Amino acid sequence: MNYYVLSLFPEIIENSLNASITGRAIEKEIITLTSVDIRDFSDNKHMKVDDYPYGGGAGLVIKPTCVYDAYLHTISLIKNKKKPRVVYMTPQGSVFNQKKAVDFAKEEDLIILCGHYEGIDERVLETIVTDYVSIGDYVLTGGEIASVIVMDAVSRLVPGVLGNSESAFTDTFSDGLLEYPQYTRPEEFLGMKVPEVLRSGHHGNVEKWRHEQKLIRTRKNRPDLYEKYIMLHPEEELKD
Ligand code: SAM
Repeated sequence: MNYYVLSLFPEIIENSLNASITGRAIEKEIITLTSVDIRDFSDNKHMKVDDYPYGGGAGLVIKPTCVYDAYLHTISLIKNKKKPRVVYMTPQGSVFNQKKAVDFAKEEDLIILCGHYEGIDERVLETIVTDYVSIGDYVLTGGEIASVIVMDAVSRLVPGVLGNSESAFTDTFSDGLLEYPQYTRPEEFLGMKVPEVLRSGHHGNVEKWRHEQKLIRTRKNRPDLYEKYIMLHPEEELKD
């Protein structure tokens, strides 16, 4: 998986992605990160990349010319003949979720475009963007952190990134339910004991308990997901 991220603040992206699990994956070249600084494509001697909005209004808009030139430069770096998807991080996009992460993880190359200030001139978006993605119904100052969230979630699904490749498939959302509670040593903490069944060594009972916990948790914390799951699996509906 090769990420190409176009932004005005590449350091936010590099500092975040080069740490921990994604950092290791970059070191091992399982994933690659190429940051493209939109400012390098300014046609202005003061390196300005934004201007006042036509029609008036608050804030500044990133110019289409520098974004387009940054995009053409990025395309020239990609060896693959297939035109890559271009994801624009925007609060106006469809909301990112695990299903979208699975979908993006199938790509070999992904271009991610991050806006700032009031956003980016519409004409260049219309020309290059294939996917408009939001990370939630709130407005951030820029798309950099949003892009890191997307890349983090996608990278976990790329084979070889997680030490234990199984864990991505038992996580919350993988089967439409939230994950069961997890425990580790010590066996007793502040008077609370690890549930007996997890210490029993009985694999079948552990699986049964975990599945029931997933249903209980999902019904309590995400009734919307629980309803959806029960529509597909009515025989699993909790009795109490
Ligand atoms: N004026 C824009 C609007 O009302 O839709 C908001 C611009 S926002 C202040 C600046 C940039 O932050 C956007 O271009 C986008 O890249 C990013 N951004 C803000 N909120 C976001 C969100 N919820 N999800 C993804 N990106 C977001």
